[in-house]
Amino acid sequence: MKIAIIGSGGREHALAWKLAQSVGQKNIFCLPGNGGTWNNVSIAPNDFQAIETFCLDEGIELIVVGPEDPLANGVVDFFKNKKVRVFGPDQRAAQLESSKIFAKKFMKKYGVATADFWLLEDGDDIEQVIEQLGGQLVIKYDGLAAGKGVFVCNSTAEAYTALEELKRRYGDTAPFFIEQKFSGQELSIIGITDGKTVKLLSPSQDHKPVFDGDKGPNTGGMGAYCPVPVCTEQVLKQVQEQIVLPTLKGLQAEKLDYHGVLYFGLMLTDRGPQLLEYNVRFGDPETEVILPALKSDLLTLIEASLEEKLDTVSVEKNDGYFVDVVLASGGYPGAYEKGKIITGLDQVGEETLIFHAGTRKENGQIVTAGGRVLNVVAHAPTLEQAIERVYTEVEKIHFDRMYYRKDIGKKGLRQ
Ligand code: ATP
Repeated sequence: MKIAIIGSGGREHALAWKLAQSVGQKNIFCLPGNGGTWNNVSIAPNDFQAIETFCLDEGIELIVVGPEDPLANGVVDFFKNKKVRVFGPDQRAAQLESSKIFAKKFMKKYGVATADFWLLEDGDDIEQVIEQLGGQLVIKYDGLAAGKGVFVCNSTAEAYTALEELKRRYGDTAPFFIEQKFSGQELSIIGITDGKTVKLLSPSQDHKPVFDGDKGPNTGGMGAYCPVPVCTEQVLKQVQEQIVLPTLKGLQAEKLDYHGVLYFGLMLTDRGPQLLEYNVRFGDPETEVILPALKSDLLTLIEASLEEKLDTVSVEKNDGYFVDVVLASGGYPGAYEKGKIITGLDQVGEETLIFHAGTRKENGQIVTAGGRVLNVVAHAPTLEQAIERVYTEVEKIHFDRMYYRKDIGKKGLRQ
C-alpha cells in the first residue's frame, strides 16, 4: 500500500520512519517533507485538490495528516466518499482542538475533569472574575494560535495586560475565556481512536520553554521522553475514568466522526489529573519518542481505527526509555538564521534515531531551514542511561549557533 504523509516536521519524519516498517520506504511519500524524508513532493498541506490529484496519479490509498491545520480546514470532509482514505477527525470533530471554547463546553457537558472556566457569552463580568481570582488565572484565545494564545497570569495587573495583548493580536472582538489556574507537572497521553475505543500509546512529557529549568519563552517543544515515571498505574486509571471514558461518551453522544489521533494534554494537580487541552493529531516532539516506543505495527492500528475495529487489536510497547533532544537554531523561538551546514550526522551510533525537522538538502549537504532543526532520539533500559546516551550523540552533531536544552528527561529522574 502507498501512503502519503502530510507535513514537514520531526513528527512527520517519525511517522514516515514507522510506517515504512509496514509498507517499505518506497511506498511512503512526504508532502512536502524535509531534508531527512524521502519521496518528497512539493505540495502545501492545505492544497487538498493538489493532494487528491497527486494521490490518484500515484495510486496512494491512505493519507496520514501530521499538523492540525489541514484537519481544522476539513481535509477529512474533502476526501469523504472518495477513493483515498484519510486518517483523522472531520472538521466538526477537529474543533476539539481548533476551538478551545468548543472543547471546554464539550468537557463540561460530558464530565471530563478540567479547570473551571468563565465565558463572556455566558454573561460573566470579566473584570469581576479577574478581581475575584486575584489575577491567578489563565486567559485563552479560542482559536489555533501556535502556542501564543494562552496567557498564564499571576496578578490582576498581568491579567489586564494579557487581555490588552490578546485584543491587540486578535482584535477587539476576539473570542476568549478565563480559566482556573492549576499547577503541577504536564503530561501528554496520546491515543488512537475509532470513536468507540481509544488505544493509548506510551505517556510522554514535552519540554515547552526554551531554556533549562523550564525558563524563557515557550517553543514548539525542545524535547520529550517516554514513558513518564510520574504517570503511575493509579494515575493512568484516573485518566481513563475521569478523562478518556467521558470523552468517548461525548464523541458518541455528539456523533462526532473521529477516526484518528486523540491527544490529551494533562496537568497532574493536587485534585488529580486535569485535562488542559485536546489535540486532534500527534504531538511534536512527543511522536518522536512514542513511535519508537511502540512495538505494534502502526498501520494495523490506523486501519483498525478507520474500520472501527480498534477493540480487536492490542497495543504492545517496547521496554526501556526513549529520550528526544531537539537541536534548534540559535535565537529560536525568536529570529534565527537558516542555511547553516549540518555536520556529524554520519557519526551518530546506529541505534540512535535522527528525525529531521527544519532541514533541507542543498548541493548534497543537509542545511538548516527552520527553528527546530533535528531530533536526536536514544533508547536505553533506564531513563538515566537514555539521557546519558542521547547527550553523547548530540555532541557529535554541529551547525553554527546550534542550541539545545541540557535537561531533557531530568524531571523524570526525580520521581
Ligand atoms: P495555542 O492554541 O496558543 O497553540 P495551546 O494549544 O498550546 O495554545 P494549552 O495547551 O491550552 O494551549 O495551554 C498552553 C500551556 O499553558 C499549557 O501547556 C500549560 O503550560 C499552560 N496552561 C494552560 N492551561 C492552564 C491552566 N488551567 N493552569 C495552568 N497552566 C495552564
